[in-house]
Amino acid sequence: MLIVCDGLVKIYKVAGLEQVALRELNLNIERGELMAIVGASGSGKTTLMNILGGLDRPSAGRVVVDGQELLRMSDSQLNRYRRERVGFIWQQSARNLIPYLNAIDNVTLPMTVAGRTHRSRQRAAELLERVGLGQRMHHRLSELSGGEQQRVAIAVGLANHPPLLLADEPTGEVDTATAALIYETFRTLRREMGVTIIVVSHDPGVARQVDRVVAIRDGMLASETVRQAEASQQPGVTEAFEELVVLDKNGRLHIPPEYLEELQIRGRARLEVVEGGILIRKVEEAAPSARQVAEVENTSQSRGPLRDLWGRLPGKRG
Ligand code: ADP
Ligand code: MG
Repeated sequence: MLIVCDGLVKIYKVAGLEQVALRELNLNIERGELMAIVGASGSGKTTLMNILGGLDRPSAGRVVVDGQELLRMSDSQLNRYRRERVGFIWQQSARNLIPYLNAIDNVTLPMTVAGRTHRSRQRAAELLERVGLGQRMHHRLSELSGGEQQRVAIAVGLANHPPLLLADEPTGEVDTATAALIYETFRTLRREMGVTIIVVSHDPGVARQVDRVVAIRDGMLASETVRQAEASQQPGVTEAFEELVVLDKNGRLHIPPEYLEELQIRGRARLEVVEGGILIRKVEEAAPSARQVAEVENTSQSRGPLRDLWGRLPGKRG
């Protein structure tokens, strides 16, 4: 296992208020895996990437990368980890690259900064070949398309041969065809260099591009989408994907809000063991509690469920 996240918590404090970005997130990632993280804006994806990349520290929990526990590292150890063990690719290619340098100079720069000057230009050229830019290495960035710039960024991220590449929405500003090319580049690098790659994505079709997709909701792992092995091995059969809900070790799981909305399940539910599974049922409304009565009386224009409740209150009929 390259990465183990165990009960990761991240709380930001803003103007005295606590904002929980990760709440006991558990996630394991195999060495050499190409995986994607999806989730609504604000669900904690970037927070997780920043922690894995050593840019930020979790508030609690354990995160082990390549046998090293990040929470226990001193600031200087963490700086070194960030420089040598991780490559980053950001959504805005401007953040990855120096605009007035050409492609090969951009890729050489991180090696120079790390003091690895021996054969650095040659290694930069090899990396640019690998990302499919062998013919473009002396082009200035302004002469490259957005997708080409992102592939330069991938080569920059890999300049010091980190075992882990983190890409936060690298396809956020490119078209579908270019995005497919970027994923193709990731697959090549994983195959040829054995690098582990984590990509944050908004693409609905990302499951086709990677080994595994995990969805984060509200700072927790909610579901995993896996390829159905049997189906994909038969020639001519289109690949099938299945989204599985993730259970934590305490038995908690995340039920998609649209299911709860559809079935009007809130607050509490009835759990029944049925043949082959567990059924979650709506609890039929009982007599209203004193608190609900008080709430209704404080609501001048009650609608929906509250209105129904109003109608059923003893002494309020007619
Ligand atoms: P995502 O990348 O999935 O959009 P983020 O990890 O950026 O989500 O944010 C998760 C939550 O943490 C959000 O509610 C966001 O407002 C909050 N957050 C992120 N970064 C900071 C920060 N530096 N300070 C305060 N709150 C933050
Ligand atoms: Mg983000």
